[in-house]
Amino acid sequence: MSLTRKRVMVTGGAGFLGSHLCERLLRDGNDVLCVDNYFTGRKDNIARLIGDPHFEAMRHDITFPLYVEVDEIYNMACPASPVHYQYDPVQTTKTSVIGAINMLGLAKRIGAKILQASTSEVYGDPTIHPQTEDYRGNVNPLGPRACYDEGKRCAETLFFDYHRQHRTRIKVARIFNTYGPRMHPNDGRVVSNFIVQALQGEDITLYGDGSQTRAFCYVDDLVEGLMRLMATEDVETGPMNLGNPHEITVRELAERVVRLTGAGSALVQRELPADDPVQRCPDIGMAKRVLGWGPTIALEDGLARTVEYFRGMMAERAAALATREGVHAT
Ligand code: NAD
Ligand code: UDP
Repeated sequence: MSLTRKRVMVTGGAGFLGSHLCERLLRDGNDVLCVDNYFTGRKDNIARLIGDPHFEAMRHDITFPLYVEVDEIYNMACPASPVHYQYDPVQTTKTSVIGAINMLGLAKRIGAKILQASTSEVYGDPTIHPQTEDYRGNVNPLGPRACYDEGKRCAETLFFDYHRQHRTRIKVARIFNTYGPRMHPNDGRVVSNFIVQALQGEDITLYGDGSQTRAFCYVDDLVEGLMRLMATEDVETGPMNLGNPHEITVRELAERVVRLTGAGSALVQRELPADDPVQRCPDIGMAKRVLGWGPTIALEDGLARTVEYFRGMMAERAAALATREGVHAT
């Protein structure tokens, strides 16, 4: 690695957000080390980066110690969709908690700056609206979402204890719902689910009556926010909300996806999962003030780009299937 380039490690770098971050970091002239165990990440997400002399991918599970030399660490590793993080809840907590201990220990040893991908889920099912960083949250510690929510809360505690006890340079970003190309088609998150369902002409599944709200941030905006937070002075530790404060109901999102795709899908209701937050929307006053940051990509545009991505992916899969069937027929 060159001495003039910053050496940046991204854990979870083969995931949805991590792969966009790796790409952007490379574009900005950094050396990038992507660390991932491919639990929910995919090699396809980083395929275009392989071969770049400033990019390196390492298979590693962050619940085990790691010894590398880097200047900055973005700790993004953790399954993020409810379906994925509830698949193996014990491993989810281990990734958040033991993973944080390992990455903080590394940052402390080598003097690196470290950013934690925390989440709006630390607010649980919030009782204040929109959520500000000083709100302490309303999390059910026993429910099915707790492995993720409490794991991330404990990770925040560890970040601030390392900061107080060891002067580790930390940044904690509380990320709100983010969407865009490279979301996993089967991860059950609302944007990917609705788009895939619409493109396949299937019913769109509203959990509950669809009156719950979320606010969706396009991935490029989020990556910009993360990088600006990392670049702040050491006193700016966060926690800092990053997200798009444009709040809509899940039903409205479904209607938009149907309109955008031109699908004939019907909206059908399914059972609302336990502890599903009723209302969620970030107050991004702190990010605006400290980073001069705010989202720039409107939901309509971001959704259109995401629809294009899934259309392309499904066309590729159909073509691969047709080729395989053709081979078998001959
Ligand atoms: P993702 O599932 O696409 O990416 C997570 C990545 O971490 C995957 O590549 C996965 O293989 C990897 N990983 C999981 N456990 C690991 C382990 N033990 N060791 C090494 N790698 C491991 O999810 P995402 O949406 O890209 O989320 C990235 C981060 O951002 C997560 O920490 C998540 O909690 C946080 N976040 C995301 C959102 C969002 O809306 N996307 C919202 C809030 C917070
Ligand atoms: N949701 C839905 N239908 C789906 C998937 C999700 O109605 O097919 C709802 C889900 O119940 C939640 C919201 O959409 O209220 C956002 O869900 P997601 O899993 O994307 O993220 P969350 O914000 O809940 O972590």
